[in-house]
Amino acid sequence: MRNQKTIRQAVSISGIGLHSGKRVTLTLHPARANTGIRFLRTDLPESREIQANVRNVHSTTLATTLSSGDVKISTVEHLMSALWVMGIDNVLCSLDGGEIPILDGSAAPFAQLIRKAGLKPQRSARRFLVALKTIEIRVGDKWAILRPSREFRIRYTIDFPHPVIGKQSFEFNSNTNFLEEIAPCRTFGFLKDVERMQAMGLALGGSLQNAVVLDDVKALNPEGLRFQDEFVRHKVLDAIGDLSLVGYPILADIELHRAGHELQTRLVQELLEQPGAYSIYVPGKQEDLEKPLCLAQAAYAF
Ligand SMILES: [Zn+2]
Repeated sequence: MRNQKTIRQAVSISGIGLHSGKRVTLTLHPARANTGIRFLRTDLPESREIQANVRNVHSTTLATTLSSGDVKISTVEHLMSALWVMGIDNVLCSLDGGEIPILDGSAAPFAQLIRKAGLKPQRSARRFLVALKTIEIRVGDKWAILRPSREFRIRYTIDFPHPVIGKQSFEFNSNTNFLEEIAPCRTFGFLKDVERMQAMGLALGGSLQNAVVLDDVKALNPEGLRFQDEFVRHKVLDAIGDLSLVGYPILADIELHRAGHELQTRLVQELLEQPGAYSIYVPGKQEDLEKPLCLAQAAYAF
């Protein structure tokens, strides 16, 4: 687990974008050590690569969009979540459109794609980001707090005044099986918002095939929920995707309450911008941090 990893072979998947409704093909390619996760649009004549890093976050409205110049890639969070937890350090993601396919609204198809590609250890040592200071972002009754810790942990609570959701909380830690407990959890939305968004030209690809849709009293999906608390689990999935934009696996304890892409992205930005808030370490070289990392352990099924 101490070496960087890429994928063994190129793999592709096709589907529609949640917001654009357009059909796209995503291909993951093996990449050299120390190059990180990068995106490339193949539908643009003079495209450039976009590093999956919080510095390149263009917008966090409804989904997380990365950009470099005027080249944009949106809805990266579910793919990023799967790549990060499954321990992929280096990969080039090429896409013939501007939005990552939504597939079934969860990260499970991406996790299956990565498993199909296989993992390939590389010679370079993996580096980790260790949080050294507490970072706290509060907006009204929403908050995101990151505290130094020797393990990666997320505690998420949501509170929606809806009979199917209500108050839900979930803790992701070294005992959580991402592939079984988090990856299958789908994005969700409310019917009244979907109708309003579609009138504005958003969520054009949204359907019961790629989201849990709720009216005022129930989920409309005939197959029902995958977990009774699928909603907060999906929020954890999204949060992992947003946190991955720090560019390294991280050692920190993260508490999120009614947060979302914007707060999660601001938390990562603050962590990287505050002087002395973190250090980068290579396992085995600093004996004072002997405990293996939960993220490394959690990469897990391989
Ligand atoms: Zn999501």
